[in-house]
Amino acid sequence: MKTVIIGGVAGGASAAARLRRLDEKAEIVMLERGEHISFANCGLPYYIGGEISDRKRLTIQTPRSFRKRFAVDVRVRHEAIAIDTARKVVQVRDIANEKDYEETYDKLILSPGAEPVRPPLPGAEDPRVFTLRNIPDALRIREYMLNARPKTAVVVGGGFIGIEIAENLIRAGISVIIAELSDHVIGTLDYDMACEVYRYLLHKNVGLMLGCSVKAFHPEDDRLGVELDNGDTLWADMALMTVGVRPDTGLAKSAGIDINVRGAILVDEHMRTSDGNIYAVGDAVAVVNQVTGKPAYIPLAGPANKQGRIAADNICGLGSVYRGTQGSNILRFFDMTAASTGLNESAAKAAGLDYDKIFTYSPSHATYYPGSANISIKTLFEKKTGRILGAQLVGSEGVDKRCDVLAVAIRAGMTAYDLAEMELAYAPPFSSAKDPVNMVGFAIENILTGKVRQFHWHDVAGLRQKENALLLDVRTDKEYAAGNIPGALHIPLDSLRDRLSEIDRGKALYVYCQSGLRSYIACRILSQKDFDCYNLSGGYRKYETVTGSCAFDGVPEYPCGIKI
Ligand code: FAD
Repeated sequence: MKTVIIGGVAGGASAAARLRRLDEKAEIVMLERGEHISFANCGLPYYIGGEISDRKRLTIQTPRSFRKRFAVDVRVRHEAIAIDTARKVVQVRDIANEKDYEETYDKLILSPGAEPVRPPLPGAEDPRVFTLRNIPDALRIREYMLNARPKTAVVVGGGFIGIEIAENLIRAGISVIIAELSDHVIGTLDYDMACEVYRYLLHKNVGLMLGCSVKAFHPEDDRLGVELDNGDTLWADMALMTVGVRPDTGLAKSAGIDINVRGAILVDEHMRTSDGNIYAVGDAVAVVNQVTGKPAYIPLAGPANKQGRIAADNICGLGSVYRGTQGSNILRFFDMTAASTGLNESAAKAAGLDYDKIFTYSPSHATYYPGSANISIKTLFEKKTGRILGAQLVGSEGVDKRCDVLAVAIRAGMTAYDLAEMELAYAPPFSSAKDPVNMVGFAIENILTGKVRQFHWHDVAGLRQKENALLLDVRTDKEYAAGNIPGALHIPLDSLRDRLSEIDRGKALYVYCQSGLRSYIACRILSQKDFDCYNLSGGYRKYETVTGSCAFDGVPEYPCGIKI
């Protein structure tokens, strides 16, 4: 059996290695257009910033080492330029020798990846406007940084790669403004969770222009103008475009393989395309969203690697199945971590799910042990069953662990009741006896079983119009004095039982504390005294984070285009 693989990085190299492990006799040819195989795309931002200083560390395998270990015929700088599916032949261009030749196959695996979107904007061809996909791109950026010593940069697009690049430019001593088209950065987070990130970005002096698209670049000798659609021009020494990727599937399309409107290759659960002899994996393919069962496009390294393995399994007669992608992702920005898994609100809405959400703040480890910090978690669950649909987390310590536990819960179809029961490893430096994941389970269970009803930060404005609504702040005097929701009655939790007579029984009570925990206790006291009450999920902290000044102020020297 002869298998030809197009693309030698995440999906392609995984497929090649698995094929060899399963079949010592297989003939395997891996074609890679670039100079490198099996390189660390995900490590490129850290090379730009100098955290990964040795460029050799970016290549996990060289063509030579891969050939030696896996006996794969690796051909770098060989580009597949056409596929004749009837004859089972790939036409290949040997780039170095400027020669074309034909390569036959029994099975073909496509793993061509995705290319950065580069809108055809005036001035975008200026050499100071960069994109980042591979090692040559990273080398170009690094070389420019070493030679031209830029002081300022505009990162166009505030997705996870944009934020990672921003961090690394700052580490290299460059001031950064991020210009983002949508109303918030990190599109996998909802608006109210992205607001948790701004504090960190502003703390590192990142300028944020939200709701702005770039209209044109204006290259001048010693500077580059980045013109926004709001009329502003940001002047910088360099710009990086990270506005998304699109499947690199021109080859598949011209070979007549079925693709969707977005250009992603359609595959079945065995990663087989519309041509039974051709498999496709990675950023080039459409997937099924594991939570909704609906078609999706989620380009990530983990899925690409797993799909490569599954394609190889199937070629070797093992019927492995890819059950979908849930989009677990994580990003670091200095000491902040943001992660998410499963559905966010816009995805849950688009899927027509009857969901609710809860915001919790829980300490990363026992508060009496030094160094604990709150993790902000937003969890989506199905109203009827309590099934966990998605989670978004922002914090500084222990975010990765909780995101992964929630990812497993989603994959296993677990409910909030299961989260409440989970027995997770605990000692004071690592967690609390009730882990943040247990806390999510408890909080949702309380809603599902009717022990408490909740309201959200976005409901607060509407309460002012309701005549029979009364906001009740149950925090301490000090907390109340530091900031509160105007019009709220203030009765600290610990004196609530003694001051019930001050509360108008004819009103529905909308109770809040700092995080939602003490107000839950207040609601339990009040509802058992026949008051009609609701708990503010995530408390004043979430409300203030989303609606307060920190969320909307830019760094003073940069105009801030943030709009609600
Ligand atoms: P790729 O790894 O892109 O490999 C495709 C290869 O195919 C390319 O080398 C290309 O040259 C080659 N090719 C294309 N067409 C042809 C042809 N006709 N002939 C020969 N060769 C061809 N994902 C995460 O999960 N976490 C992260 O932290 C993360 N960080 C990232 C940071 C950056 C800067 C980038 C660019 C990506 C990041 N990703 C991350 C995404 C991740 O790298 C991809 O999801 C993954 O590499 C996809 O694997 P793939 O095999 O589909 O494509």
